[in-house]
Amino acid sequence: MRDLFIQNARIMIGDTILENQSIRIRNGKISVLERGRTDKPSMEGIDAQGLLLTPGLIDIQINGGFGFDFTHNPESIWEVGHQLIRIGVTSFLPTIITSPMEKIQKALDIWKAGKPDDYLGAFPLGWHIEGPFLNPEKKGAHRVEYLQSPELGLISDWNPTNGVKLVTLAPELPGSEDVIRKLVSAGVVVSLGHSTATSQQADNAFRWGARAGTHLYNAMQGLHHREPGLTGALLTNEQIFAGLIVDGIHVHPQMVKLAYQVKGAGHLILITDAMEALGMPSGRYFLAGKEVEVDSQSARLTDGTLAGSILSLPEAIKNVMRFSGCSYPEAFQMATETPARLLGLKFKGSIEIGQDADLVLWDENLKAQMAIVSGEIVYNHTE
Ligand code: ZN
Repeated sequence: MRDLFIQNARIMIGDTILENQSIRIRNGKISVLERGRTDKPSMEGIDAQGLLLTPGLIDIQINGGFGFDFTHNPESIWEVGHQLIRIGVTSFLPTIITSPMEKIQKALDIWKAGKPDDYLGAFPLGWHIEGPFLNPEKKGAHRVEYLQSPELGLISDWNPTNGVKLVTLAPELPGSEDVIRKLVSAGVVVSLGHSTATSQQADNAFRWGARAGTHLYNAMQGLHHREPGLTGALLTNEQIFAGLIVDGIHVHPQMVKLAYQVKGAGHLILITDAMEALGMPSGRYFLAGKEVEVDSQSARLTDGTLAGSILSLPEAIKNVMRFSGCSYPEAFQMATETPARLLGLKFKGSIEIGQDADLVLWDENLKAQMAIVSGEIVYNHTE
């Protein structure tokens, strides 16, 4: 693997942006960070021309994109990953929504088979399995006929080595305590969602090891002053993370601002929940076999139910700044460092010596100009 040397970049480190920095990458890791120019003729040098360099984006909930639906066609994680790099996403959790168990098993097998030779793209870190242990009352676009009660027998081999990184479930369903405890002990991140849970039921699930909420506000009870519900429990528990779809449609801008004011950038995660129409023209698409109408802003079932989004993470970053008033570095933090912390990725999500060199150079409109995954240039807009 070639060493890389990037100079003349503005680098986002933590909550600051440092001007005129250079960075060296060796064996896929960040090896040196320094101010100014260092001429090392032996290394391949890239002049960033003052563009912004940030950690690569991490999307922990994405159903597909660019004409592919992961639930229908799990093999497409590689095609989609190859496209995602063009919008600055360097790792992602492809999401499979409520399906027959055989279908989930097939998805795990595909991930375990590994990336194709000569693959260049964002890296799928394992699956986000959303369902089938969801509450039918909050099913959203999920198929009710495949919903099930949580059962240990169904998840015996769910662990990160087998490709299960994160599971969304409804903690009020009977059997959920055993399943949450088992998943957590196997190293799977458990996130609560598609749920009618009371705040007490949510707090119980946090005690059993759940650490996050899936698309805060969507597919859960709204805040009520006598029953704060899952929403209230997610907002008020300082240790708990929450994913949020900041497209301006799934959640009102003021509720985005509320979430930011209460939880801060350290526990809010920008997710896209994007479906196959991401990056495609308006028209008729599918989500896990259900027909979806897509216009320039939203994706909906024929009855009007939202069915994923067509949001990209760079758009979510711009939106969250506009809606919440957060800083530029904080908006990036919600799509880099915070999801990395939830997933326990010690070497991703920040620019520091020793971290994986998953990096993106951006123009002023947040169009990715270059993307690097594990020290390898996988996308170069200027070529
Ligand atoms: Zn959902």
